[in-house]
Amino acid sequence: MKKILLMLITLSLLACTACGDIPMDGEESEASKTESTTSIADESVISQPENNTSVQESTSEKPDDTSEVVSETESSVSESESAAESEKESEVITQPPVSSTPESEIIIDTNYAIELSDEEIKCINAGANGEYLILVNKENKLPKDFVPENLVDIRKTRGDRAPEKMVYTAETALNAFLKEATYYGHGDVTITSGYRSIAKQESLFNYYVSQEMASGKDKASAEAAASVYSAYPGTSEHHTGLCADMHNLPAASQNFGSTEAAKWMAANAHRFGFILRFPQGKQDITGYMWEPWHFRFVGIKHATAIYESGLTLEEYLATEAEVG
Ligand SMILES: [Zn+2]
Repeated sequence: MKKILLMLITLSLLACTACGDIPMDGEESEASKTESTTSIADESVISQPENNTSVQESTSEKPDDTSEVVSETESSVSESESAAESEKESEVITQPPVSSTPESEIIIDTNYAIELSDEEIKCINAGANGEYLILVNKENKLPKDFVPENLVDIRKTRGDRAPEKMVYTAETALNAFLKEATYYGHGDVTITSGYRSIAKQESLFNYYVSQEMASGKDKASAEAAASVYSAYPGTSEHHTGLCADMHNLPAASQNFGSTEAAKWMAANAHRFGFILRFPQGKQDITGYMWEPWHFRFVGIKHATAIYESGLTLEEYLATEAEVG
């Protein structure tokens, strides 16, 4: 009986890894599946405290100049070449812009240690009108033909693999984020996964279904069984090209969350327009367990608001919709 219970718990935990369940290739598959299973089953991981106070304690100081940065960027966007690119992106991303939070209430931290280029500043400040707030999760599936515009190579992809891809604006902000991380002694954090196509996920998922059917299940049961360890195509945030998995371990694992690097990143991601998408203790809302390695680009304004509020993206969008 105890054994069955344990198995059930393990299975239900397995279903909840947003990154681990969508392997990119053999390597990623092995790494993420095995590792996340291991880490989830690890007692020390499960017994992590429910709140994130230790992570948030290390937040850096926040100077008071806020709206200045946002408006500055908005005006500079239209002058540059990639303005057209940004517009294209916002066409693809269908989430309606919501901007009900008064800007004066959001204190944006621009106290960077590294020197940022104009382009980096522009990209970090992009999305003030909600252009990057697209919500993709188990309930919000992308259309089958969704492909993000302007995918580029992620410069700091881990050396043992071909460059991962990300939307240009997000990658530019990410690179600045990682340069700042390097300045603070976390230069060993690299990207292990970025954009994943729906087509690729579909063929992977279908493969798992066929394997399940080969063991005698009908199609519905086979799909249910496969979805325990592999995401349904269209339901992964990695399809958007706006998120990336980053860590300094052999494979993504919750053990990363207790490292100095992970704490620094969680406390500083918003300054570069990123949020920790699957925070600790929010599984009932996001549908996924704590993933200290998975960061999602939304732009500095919303990232800061989300970080300061302690809300998940789901909760933040619900609040915005209510107010708006
Ligand atoms: Zn991920």
